[in-house]
Amino acid sequence: MSGKKRERSYIKDIIPFIINIIYPSQCNVCRNKLKYDENIICRECIAELDYKLLREQNFQIDDNSIHISVFSYENIVKDILHLFKFNQYQPLGKILTERALFFTDKTVFDKYDFLLPVPLTSKKRKERGFNQTEIIAKIISKETNIPILSIIKKEKETMPQSILSKTEREKNLRGVFSIIKKTDRKTYDNKSILIVDDVLTTGSTFKEIKKTIEPIGFSSIDIYTIATPRI
Ligand SMILES: [Zn+2]
Repeated sequence: MSGKKRERSYIKDIIPFIINIIYPSQCNVCRNKLKYDENIICRECIAELDYKLLREQNFQIDDNSIHISVFSYENIVKDILHLFKFNQYQPLGKILTERALFFTDKTVFDKYDFLLPVPLTSKKRKERGFNQTEIIAKIISKETNIPILSIIKKEKETMPQSILSKTEREKNLRGVFSIIKKTDRKTYDNKSILIVDDVLTTGSTFKEIKKTIEPIGFSSIDIYTIATPRI
């Protein structure tokens, strides 16, 4: 590195440090001043991820699949998920997932052989720098010892699901997932898989992935999400 470049990089590093002394960091959710050992959000906000925000966890999504969801997609949960996904605050994903696991009855994981994080297109993953569902799935895998099975990819970019109607959402996702490599039809017979996503709204993503992986086996295909909007 040349002297000038080194100087520029040094200045780049020291500016946020000085700004933080003049203007101490604020909690990204409640805007209160952060304590020296807090980062991104304050302890009080994390503590709000409590029983009040829980929803019923285990319900049928279709005739033979279960949706396990922990929090209601509102208030602090919505704020944290947003900061995690769109502001690249990856540690928040860890905090939120660990809190979700704390409230999850661990026996629900007993039947699963694999976890399957919902993929992003490679372009989107590159832009974001990470895939939030992989981060969530890795934490669940560490806690439960269920291995992650990355067998599908998302081939084309879709419109944001949040701006579409239920019918449009299904149409938007049709045929966007595919199996990564040629897989024998019986490969995953009698295996159970748990798809992992951050939020589930209409369930269109789940249905599309289920349709994609059903031909290669699986006795059950269910889904775990951190949050779901209250109906
Ligand atoms: Zn706060």
